[in-house]
Amino acid sequence: MNHKSSILIILLIIQCLAILVVSQDFDFFYFVQQWPGSYCDKKQSCCYPKSGKPAPDFSIHGLWPNYKDGSYPSNCDPDSPFDESKISDLTNKMQEDWPTLACPSSDGLTFWGHEWDKHGTCSESVLDQHDYFATTLNLKKQVNLLQILTDAGINPDGEFYNLESIKDAIKGATGYTPWVECNVDGSGNSQLYQIYMCVDNSGSHIIECDVLPHGKCASKIQFPSF
Ligand code: AMP
Ligand code: AMP
Repeated sequence: MNHKSSILIILLIIQCLAILVVSQDFDFFYFVQQWPGSYCDKKQSCCYPKSGKPAPDFSIHGLWPNYKDGSYPSNCDPDSPFDESKISDLTNKMQEDWPTLACPSSDGLTFWGHEWDKHGTCSESVLDQHDYFATTLNLKKQVNLLQILTDAGINPDGEFYNLESIKDAIKGATGYTPWVECNVDGSGNSQLYQIYMCVDNSGSHIIECDVLPHGKCASKIQFPSF
């Protein structure tokens, strides 16, 4: 290769890298799972989906693109609205793993549509609509939170557990530190509401979180039944 063409190739590589950096529209994802018992056990309660009461298991809330500075993009592409027909092969699994608990009772399309429009459209450069939902379902398979917690003697039985022991159990089983979000039940008890894990910006691997969202749990939190 002569001198000229090697310079050309180097320039080409630099250009490709520049395009990659510019199209990098978020840094990582939060994969957020929810304990349905805590969504329902609050002042404003919940409605089971039309398909019936979901299984007593953690369910998916969403996969949220985020920036390292702690902020996040939302509603990025009004020209790419949620299209049910693109995920018809996934809806059975989504009813199981990603059930809506909003009132009035529904089939979940509103919840999934909200998640796609608000969050999914911000990671469209890596995951199209079908892949966004398929990837999220796949992450749930990788992290079986209920199994991990019950193996550590932490059960959804209305008892109070140390926040640290919950985090330790998840860190021990997955290798990664989770973020725990709490909410408050009708009597003011702090309870285990959502668990955040960080995922690399291709949606394939769980990673250690650089930034954690804000919020507080008590040092002992309730794990309500569902
Ligand atoms: P909150 O007000 O914290 O209960 O959050 C309400 C909604 O804000 C969530 O359901 C998300 O849609 C959004 N949200 C909060 N924090 C984040 C975050 N770090 N990344 C993406 N969305 C977020
Ligand atoms: P954030 O805006 O994703 O992405 O989600 C916040 C909205 O989703 C809020 O209005 C929540 O009340 C609602 N939400 C959270 N969990 C559920 C659920 N399991 N089913 C339906 N809506 C939910």
